[in-house]
Amino acid sequence: MSDVQSLYQDLILDHNKNPRNFRKIENADRTLEGYNPLCGDRYTIYLKLNGEIIEDITFEGSGCAISKASASVMTSVLKGKTVPEAQRLFDIFHRLVTGKDLSVEERDELGKLEVFSGVSTYPARVKCAVLPWHTMKGALENKGSVVSTE
Ligand code: ZN
Repeated sequence: MSDVQSLYQDLILDHNKNPRNFRKIENADRTLEGYNPLCGDRYTIYLKLNGEIIEDITFEGSGCAISKASASVMTSVLKGKTVPEAQRLFDIFHRLVTGKDLSVEERDELGKLEVFSGVSTYPARVKCAVLPWHTMKGALENKGSVVSTE
């Protein structure tokens, strides 16, 4: 097993067992539910904004280990970032898990998110990994009340 694969598995196990930011924000500025019918993953993302700054971001819900770990890592990484930074990370993360080439600079920006490159070898799991990101993006763009990966 390669280092990236074992890092990936450790991270998924850790965040699935102890998800970070797994709570509701009372009086959230944005709330959006995301659903992945392929796997049954269903999460609600809560956002607290201060102008362009993501002051707090949390999630609740249930699903497979990959979707939960992805939501947990995503919320940890995005807290304190600006809205444009979050949208840029969405694009880079999406390309990472779909196996696209990234520049060295983009890999630096990803930091620990790069561990999710392991998902690109399991096409059926890509939607699990991107579901929290799609939901976060939809929430920032104020898109209705539910987003679906389908
Ligand atoms: Zn899933």
